[in-house]
Amino acid sequence: MTVWRDLVGQEPTVEVLSHAVRTEGAMTHAWLFTGPPGSGRSTAARAFAAALQCPQGGCGECRECRTALDGSHADVKVVATEGLSIQVRDTRDLVQESALRPSVGRWRVIIIEDADRLTERAADALLKALEEPTPRTVWMLCAPSLEDVIITIRSRSRHIRLRTPPVQAVAELLERRDGVDGPMALHAARAAQSHIGLARRLARDEGARIRRRDVIAMATRIVGVGDAIDAAADLAQIADEESTASTAERDAAERSRLLETLGADPTARTQPPHIRSQLAALEKEQKTRATRHARDMVDRSLVDLMSVYRDALVLRLGSTVDLINPDAMDKVRGLSAVFSAEQLLGCLDAITEARDRINANVPPLLALEAMALQLRVPRDLNH
Ligand SMILES: [Zn+2]
Repeated sequence: MTVWRDLVGQEPTVEVLSHAVRTEGAMTHAWLFTGPPGSGRSTAARAFAAALQCPQGGCGECRECRTALDGSHADVKVVATEGLSIQVRDTRDLVQESALRPSVGRWRVIIIEDADRLTERAADALLKALEEPTPRTVWMLCAPSLEDVIITIRSRSRHIRLRTPPVQAVAELLERRDGVDGPMALHAARAAQSHIGLARRLARDEGARIRRRDVIAMATRIVGVGDAIDAAADLAQIADEESTASTAERDAAERSRLLETLGADPTARTQPPHIRSQLAALEKEQKTRATRHARDMVDRSLVDLMSVYRDALVLRLGSTVDLINPDAMDKVRGLSAVFSAEQLLGCLDAITEARDRINANVPPLLALEAMALQLRVPRDLNH
């Protein structure tokens, strides 16, 4: 067992990072981890942090390793934003912290999980620390791609690019780490297109599997304009449900924790002004988080929807590439029978456009309706 055990399908990266741990000359003070969502960027950064702290270079068993991996090591700070952006005040605090010597470990490590969400001013503040590095401090920034990080930061960091792990490797991880049984692990890894977090959720949550199945089924049902409007509304609703299911409990817990900290009575109908303003601030933060979450959920559904058109195209072209949805073969066959390859590409483009527009803050329902209208099939394929 080593610290790298959960970083699956990334052998070249493990080699580079463990070399840096062993060889002082191969070490540098700023690293930039990029790779597709769910490929293990933050897992890689945490494992690297653990290996740097571990007296044996990453045994995976000692106290240094365990605390660095679970985020409780005194010298490993993990910054994961819940909001839409990381503000300049947050980075200023980090920069101050980065100037300190490690308190117990061999290095002070600061991991920023969503470096793509740094505002321009926040990135500028960070740049100062990267330009004048403190000797035992290591920055690890994670982002989907190089383009998501400003060039000045990029040019001062060593780049580590993760690849999409093979389906089989993700399935094995789910079996070993999460105790999922073999066939389910394989199904989930394939359906999630190797997104590790998503695969885990699909494997363990039946509701998530049902919602995914409903999204896939939608592709063959859009015949008339009315169906398109309905499909858009359904997609938005599925995302809403998924989003509410995962945030409601947490929002309520945060609220009662805040009231407790302030010594307020949680059952009181009205709260004194100073508590009201604190509550309002929390609600604002939660609303930002909900917006981001709902947007992420719509995007995830659209990726699922794309997978069925992608499969139909694979079939249509007679390619031997593995299908993502072998369990929805009737729908894949149906689409490949009524659409030409060009039309299937058109459908994929329509979904990509909707994703881009939602990402650019177009109201989701509006973008989804425009998309669904372009996905109409000549006849209902379910009969
Ligand atoms: Zn260790």
